[in-house]
Amino acid sequence: MPNDTPNFRLLRLKTRRYRPAAADSEAYLAAKRLRSSKRWQSVRAQKLGEAPICESCGDAIATEVHHILAVAAHPELAFVPDNLQSLCSPCHQSKGGAHVRQP
Ligand SMILES: [Zn+2]
Repeated sequence: MPNDTPNFRLLRLKTRRYRPAAADSEAYLAAKRLRSSKRWQSVRAQKLGEAPICESCGDAIATEVHHILAVAAHPELAFVPDNLQSLCSPCHQSKGGAHVRQP
């Protein structure tokens, strides 16, 4: 039995896992547009500059900016400072940062 079969199956599983579900595709595309916008890059950098430590655990360097109210549901709050939270990656994952997860 060729030993590349299990690897191929794993690759397919991973690919499937990262593909956005049809119901999420609009939110996924909106988040993708947001991430690549110059305005978001600027707001994000400013937030991480003002709050460089994770605002959830207070114990790690923040590397991600979380939208407290999801952009998909509240696009008008995408750049509002009160809706942003500096988080470390594990805290962001635990808050379900699905709308900003990398594909
Ligand atoms: Zn944290």
